[in-house]
Amino acid sequence: MLVRTRFAPSPTGFMHLGGLRTALYEYLFAKKNHGKFILRIEDTDQERYVEGATEVIYDTLRGCGIVWDEGPDIGGDYGPYIQSERKAEYLPYAKQLIRSGHAYYCFCTKEELDARRQAAEARGETFKYDKHCLHLSPEEIQAKLDAGTPYVIRMNAPTEGVSTYHDLVFGDMSFPNSDTMDDMVLIKQDGMPTYNFANVIDDHLMNITHVIRGMEYLSSTPRYNFLYEAFGWEIPQYIHLPTVMRDATHKLSKRDGDAYYSDFIDKGYLKEALINYLALVGWNPGDDREFFTMDELIEVFDVSRLNKSPGIFDIDKLTWFNAEYIRRMSPEKYLETVTPWFDQALQGRGIDYRHLAELMQARTEVFGRVPDMVRFLAELPEYDISLFENKKQKSSLETSAEALPFCRTILSEVPDWQETALHDALIPAIAEAGKKNATVLWPLRIALSGQLSTPGGAFEIAYLLGRQESLRRIDLAIEKLHAAQ
Ligand code: GLU
Repeated sequence: MLVRTRFAPSPTGFMHLGGLRTALYEYLFAKKNHGKFILRIEDTDQERYVEGATEVIYDTLRGCGIVWDEGPDIGGDYGPYIQSERKAEYLPYAKQLIRSGHAYYCFCTKEELDARRQAAEARGETFKYDKHCLHLSPEEIQAKLDAGTPYVIRMNAPTEGVSTYHDLVFGDMSFPNSDTMDDMVLIKQDGMPTYNFANVIDDHLMNITHVIRGMEYLSSTPRYNFLYEAFGWEIPQYIHLPTVMRDATHKLSKRDGDAYYSDFIDKGYLKEALINYLALVGWNPGDDREFFTMDELIEVFDVSRLNKSPGIFDIDKLTWFNAEYIRRMSPEKYLETVTPWFDQALQGRGIDYRHLAELMQARTEVFGRVPDMVRFLAELPEYDISLFENKKQKSSLETSAEALPFCRTILSEVPDWQETALHDALIPAIAEAGKKNATVLWPLRIALSGQLSTPGGAFEIAYLLGRQESLRRIDLAIEKLHAAQ
């Protein structure tokens, strides 16, 4: 059997992390089994159409290396299957179900349905379609069709009994039909199939062997199985996935900015780190390995190691993964990736990015934090002179007020403003003057940066700032300290 899986998102305009993880597992499972992975956009709900939403799905998957294997030709590339473009496929199947008694025309108007729904609610019942139109005679139906009366096609669902099926993660499932079944609409008034119907027809037509999706579909699955059985089609294997949660009681949320793939990319997380970590949210490789390339994931992926309990998406853990991925980047790749983030704070300042990148790589956990970490190079922050006081560095306002003019004199005479030249001029001079390195270098770094923690030390910062700006900042600090005396 050739394994075939599909990712079947409804285009909402965003890629939820739970959805991305589903796509990842579908991809891994197909590849692991030398099968095929396809992408199908479930967009038959035209009222919920979102401009550009398909591109978001398309670009996210491609960007993450979750590449589908087939689809309509779009200029030498595979496009996804798009259900709205396949509209004509579904009606004949619905008519087939009408002939076999598994479906029927329904001519009830919205007003009639609303009135019956209200009446049911008034009785404290939840409204389910009451099979009203199932009892129309063939003549009545034909007359309405001939008169062009708008209709939907509904599934003729069983009201009694129990539906069972097996899920590869959740085991044997069983649902009373009275709870889970309902005469759901298969074809809408506009001729479009509903999501529920198109999903089943397409899974069959596309020979999907394993349906992998979120556990919110566990209780709808009996309805889909009813359709498979009505057609006499083979039911696929089911793999339902537990929800991805922020913690035991909270879902990832749009409001908290932690639900969507784009939230994390915008904050400067790496796709590779995100995919690596997402794979482990709800699945484990059976040993303590944590770092995997996509090929390695394919190699080790095993459905029997999927968890039944919710996957906790821990942002701190993701950040840790991200920092590790950054540390493992080549310096060239880091420079290329960090450049737009440097630009946010430093564009046009003539800073040596290559040198700054060397200082920053080991300190970068998330690229989005980089602009704030380097902004002091573009603009000296407002700072308080108490920063000059540091017991451990044997620095006080007095020692600093003395050290900075000393630094200025030595540094201003260095002909070639390079890190080593600055170092080689100042360090011996400190010794000669009988001073301590810490007592001089501490105020120098504070004067140059205006902040406590910096990437790199005094000489590196002085080099990055250049002669003029460095001396200007030292002068400012001297003035500040002077004014405080
Ligand atoms: N279109 C459905 C969704 O976005 C797909 C469910 C399924 O995979 O069957 O959730």
